[in-house]
Amino acid sequence: MKKDTKIARLGRPHAKDRPVAVNPEIVRASTILFPDMDSYDAAGKEKYTTLRYGRHGTQTAFALADAVAELEGGYRAIVMPSGLAAVSASLLAYAKPGTHLLMTDNVYGPTRNLCESYLRPLGVDVEYFAPRTGAEIADLIRPETVAIYCESPGSGTFELQDIPAIASVAAPRGIPVMNDNTWATPLLFPSFEKGVDISIHAATKYIVGHSDAMLGLIVCSEATWSTVRNMVGLLGYSTAPDDCYLALRGLRTMGLRLERHQQNALKVARWLEARPEVAAVHYPALESHPDHALWKRDFKGASGLFAFTLKSNDHEAARRFADGLDYFGIGSSWGGFESLITLPHPTRNHEASVDDRVLVRLHVGLEDPDDLIADLAAGLTAQFR
Ligand SMILES: *Cc1c(COP(=O)(O)O)cnc(C)c1O
Repeated sequence: MKKDTKIARLGRPHAKDRPVAVNPEIVRASTILFPDMDSYDAAGKEKYTTLRYGRHGTQTAFALADAVAELEGGYRAIVMPSGLAAVSASLLAYAKPGTHLLMTDNVYGPTRNLCESYLRPLGVDVEYFAPRTGAEIADLIRPETVAIYCESPGSGTFELQDIPAIASVAAPRGIPVMNDNTWATPLLFPSFEKGVDISIHAATKYIVGHSDAMLGLIVCSEATWSTVRNMVGLLGYSTAPDDCYLALRGLRTMGLRLERHQQNALKVARWLEARPEVAAVHYPALESHPDHALWKRDFKGASGLFAFTLKSNDHEAARRFADGLDYFGIGSSWGGFESLITLPHPTRNHEASVDDRVLVRLHVGLEDPDDLIADLAAGLTAQFR
């Protein structure tokens, strides 16, 4: 099956034996009833993959997990109530007092907060590595290193890690490589071909795709599955079937949406690059991006999220610029059909950054890019000329 056929077919009921609706049912359940004690006990041995108790998921959650695991090339997936829950459960599965965790320095702010506010006080030695690291990660590995955590590209400053090079160092030592793959989705970065062991998604973003539900996914290799699944079981995370249904619905058009997000984002990014107010545009799909060659080698496309640095360090003017835009909403998250703007603070969550110039992050949505460009042009001219 080719990619688009998979997107259309995975996680759906089969009409082979009985008439069925096109989409899976929304099964709402806490208690699942069994005919006898033996079948109840038997289901307990497979409680994470078959119906046993609502907290572990019903058919709706299993359909989503199976579809995404197969799309990304992983062994199995776990549906989580948010992207950050997917991050925290993955890290907690490996980080114990006395262990050493290698984290990319361009990591999502709340992931860093979890490391600093909880894991470090717990006795985990959290070490941040430069966001453009590859095989040099070998110099940082210690006997007590339990995981290498990547985010490529980072969702604020967009540096790429060389994940195949990191994996070639980590695999022989038995250290799992985790990667927050939210930006690329299961479609644009084939995690398991590239050596990732645990792929983490804020499904809230492109998979749901319509800014109307919170959801996370953890896709595991066979070797990491039971460790991560047992931790999720211990912590008691559970996801509403209605939200899983929305994610499955979003998934059906994700391939199409991503193509258009990339087309629109490239047009806006190229236009920004040529503007006199702009110092640099941080979008791996641009030839000028320092990691463009790596992106071309490893990714099958780009999504619609990128950032740019202005020549100005007038942060008040930047706030007025954002306030004055008509088509870019001000708000957290991204990956929906609509365009968004935020003003990230890289110095707050990025050790390496000492740049005081204004950083602007855009999510380029499915609007006509010419309207978006006209909106940005008016704002840049009004505030920075
Ligand atoms: C949004 C985001 C998350 C967290 O997802 P939520 O569903 O908002 O909890 C994790 N990683 C990245 C890169 C994100 O952008």
